[in-house]
Amino acid sequence: MKPKRRDFRLDIIVLLGFTAAATIASFGVYRMWAGEWTKAWFDLAVVAAVAAPVIHAWRGGDSLRAGNVLAALNSAATFGACLLLGHTALTWTYLVLLTNFFIAHRWMAVACNALLIVGMQLIPGFFHDGVHAASVLVSASLITVFSLIFAARTQDDRVQLERLAAIDALTGVPNRRSMERALADAVGRFQRGERRFGLVVLDLDHFKDVNDQYGHAAGDAAIADLASILRFEMRRNDQVFRFGGEEFVALLELDGTEDLEAATERLRKAVRSSLRGPGGRITISLGAAMLREQEKTWHDWFSRADAALYRAKSAGRDSYVIADDLF
Ligand code: GH3
Ligand code: MG
Ligand code: MG
Repeated sequence: MKPKRRDFRLDIIVLLGFTAAATIASFGVYRMWAGEWTKAWFDLAVVAAVAAPVIHAWRGGDSLRAGNVLAALNSAATFGACLLLGHTALTWTYLVLLTNFFIAHRWMAVACNALLIVGMQLIPGFFHDGVHAASVLVSASLITVFSLIFAARTQDDRVQLERLAAIDALTGVPNRRSMERALADAVGRFQRGERRFGLVVLDLDHFKDVNDQYGHAAGDAAIADLASILRFEMRRNDQVFRFGGEEFVALLELDGTEDLEAATERLRKAVRSSLRGPGGRITISLGAAMLREQEKTWHDWFSRADAALYRAKSAGRDSYVIADDLF
């Protein structure tokens, strides 16, 4: 089982939402006690409005959508508080301007912040004087700009990290983690009757000798060259992955065993004719299998291709076996 990715947006929505709801509710209770009923009802309405998207996100809903709604509500409620309370509410606006970027899409946060900043400027008598109005306008705008830059940077870092986590550093082809995702995806598409798929598992022959005789760097270079050859041989909807060590996996979209056999043989020949190490020709052995209807996860499919590879090795190497021949 793959561990579920932690949703930090949800964590912040829940923390912020419940903190906001609890704080505003306590203000509401105080205002009821003080007999300020209009303000008390306003506070309680805000509590209900804030709690709704938080509970939705908490119960497994779309956290980005809930975050967008919460940012809009928080900003509207803050504007309402500015109207009702005057500049006493100003301190809280800075917190909302900042947290909008934690919970909403960054452009949604910019839109909410811009409306709130402009809205405050339009409230008659809200600021002490022109200098006060200008200083709030500038400081609130700067908070928005810096938060936007920070949010964009965090997003870029995340995209970069996800890319790095999916690619093998030596060869530049997708790694085993990507392979698992792609195979699971292929099984799903096959089960829905969209496409048929073949899987080829291949391994360099007598590769330990290359390392032992010419060193690890020469071995690494041969693995990188093999990846280039395989990548060149992939057709539009085909993908190649480095499974680990000197073992690669090709996922091919094709119609049946005959096509799989032709593709597997084509890969064997391409490597045989192009891959050279310091000691001369390097070959591969391959095992291949078509995905079958009874295979609900990719593991059984992979095991059949791997068993076929083992047979190809036993048969003398530089050869291939199609798994369906085995049964
Ligand atoms: P066979 O034909 O049975 O596959 O023989 P083999 O020597 O290739 O045996 P095996 O596949 O078990 O050997 C794997 C060897 O590949 C062991 C290790 O020295 C080498 N190897 C695995 N990963 C790397 C790597 O990233 N770089 C280098 N240079 N060598 C690697
Ligand atoms: Mg090997
Ligand atoms: Mg091996």
